[in-house]
Amino acid sequence: MLKARSRKTKKKLACPVCGFGRLIDASIDNVSELKAESEITDDWKPDYFQKCPQCKNQIGIRKIE
Ligand SMILES: [Zn+2]
Repeated sequence: MLKARSRKTKKKLACPVCGFGRLIDASIDNVSELKAESEITDDWKPDYFQKCPQCKNQIGIRKIE
C-alpha cells in the first residue's frame, strides 16, 4: 500500500485576537478573512462563526476564495 500523504490538503487558520494557531481547519487553497465578533461591521458579512478555545472570543470567518 502506497501512502501518498505528502500533498497537504488543509491548513489551519489562526485566531486574529490571540493568535491561537488552530482555530479552524480550512482547505489548502481557501482564502479567508477572520474578525472578532466585536469588530464586525455591517458591510462585512461572515460565512461562519467559530469560538476560540483560548481567548473565548467569537470569531467571524468570511470566505473570499
Ligand atoms: Zn483567540
